[in-house]
Amino acid sequence: MGLSEFEFIKDYLLKTNHRPEDVVHGIGDDCAVLKVPPGDELAVSMDTLVNGVHFPVTTSAYDIGHKSLAVGLSDLAAMGARPAWVMLALTLPELEPIWLKSFCEGFFSLASQYNVQLVGGDVTQGPLSITTQLHGFVKAGTAITRAGAKTGDRIYVSGTIGGAGLGLLLQQNKLKLPQQCLEFSQQWLKQLNRPNPRVELGLAIREVASAAIDISDGLAADLQHVLDASSVGAIVNLENVPLPDGLSMVIEQVSGWQQILSGGDDFEICFTVAAQNEAKLLELCNKIECPITLIGEIQAHTGLRLSLQQQPVTIEKLGYEHFAQCNSHTVNRID
Ligand code: ADP
Ligand code: MG
Repeated sequence: MGLSEFEFIKDYLLKTNHRPEDVVHGIGDDCAVLKVPPGDELAVSMDTLVNGVHFPVTTSAYDIGHKSLAVGLSDLAAMGARPAWVMLALTLPELEPIWLKSFCEGFFSLASQYNVQLVGGDVTQGPLSITTQLHGFVKAGTAITRAGAKTGDRIYVSGTIGGAGLGLLLQQNKLKLPQQCLEFSQQWLKQLNRPNPRVELGLAIREVASAAIDISDGLAADLQHVLDASSVGAIVNLENVPLPDGLSMVIEQVSGWQQILSGGDDFEICFTVAAQNEAKLLELCNKIECPITLIGEIQAHTGLRLSLQQQPVTIEKLGYEHFAQCNSHTVNRID
C-alpha cells in the first residue's frame, strides 16, 4: 500500500524537534510562525530543481535531497547569512517509501550539519521537482551583495572550478575515462551531486568582502553578474584559476576553458576584496581552513577579460541559461 500525503509529512518530515527560541509554530499548522533575532535582517532565497534539468535523471534520491538544500545554503553563504529555516515544496510522481527515506536522509543530514530547521512546505503530485526556500539571519546592514566591487579589488574563488561540470559529463556518459582517472572521477561526481555549500566562508568574509556571488551557472556568467551589478569590469588570469585534480587526463575530450568557465554547479563562492583587506582575508580563511585563490582584479573598464600567460582568451558562452537555446555571448578580448 502506498503512503498518504499526511503519513509522509508525519512520519518523514515531522521527526526533528523544533528550536523553541526561533520557531514558534513549525510543521503542522497553516503557516509557520518564526522569530528573527533582534538586530538581524532576514535573507531569503528560493531554488527549484527539475528532474533532468538541474540533476541527471540517474541521480540518487540521497543526492537529490542533499542538493536541494545545498543550493539554497550556497545562496545564503554568498550573502554572508547564517542559515536558520527551510521550506520544502516537493512535486513527486508517487510517494515511494524507499525513495523518500533516502531523499530525507540526504536532506536532513545536511540540515543538521548547519542547524537548519524544516518549518513547512508542500507536497503535490506531478513530474519530480523540488523547491526549497532558505531563510538566514544577517546582522542588519552587513549582507554582502553583488554590487560592491570597486576598481582595484582582488577577485578570489573558493575551492576548485569546473569539477561539477566534468561530473555531469561523466554521469551523462559523455566522457571516456582512462583507468588511472577513477579516483578523480569520484571527486567530480561528488562535486556535482553533493556540493559543499561554503557557509563558513560566507560568514567569515562578511567583514572584508566588497561583493560576492555563488557559482551556480559557471564562473564566467556569475562573475559577470557581479560586474554588471557593480558597474565595473575585470581581468581573470586563467593560469591562476584552481582546477579540479585529474582534469589533464580528459582535457582532449572537453572544450577547454569553455567547459571549465561555464560548467556551473560548483557552488563555490567568487568574491572581491579591497587590496588593504587581503591580509585579513587570508587570516580569516586560514582559521576556517577554507582554500581560496586569487584569480584576477576588478577594473574600471566594463566587460570580462580573460587572459592566459598575457594572451587574450575568448569563450563563446558564459554559462548555463534557461530558455537560452541559441542565445550566445562572446566574452571581450583584452584591449
Ligand atoms: P495546507 O493545505 O493548509 O496548506 P498542508 O496540508 O499542505 O497544509 O500541510 C500541512 C502542514 O505540513 C503544513 O504545516 C505544511 O507546512 C507542512 N508540510 C507540507 N508539506 C511539507 C513538506 N514537503 N515539508 C515540510 N513541511 C510540509
Ligand atoms: Mg491551510
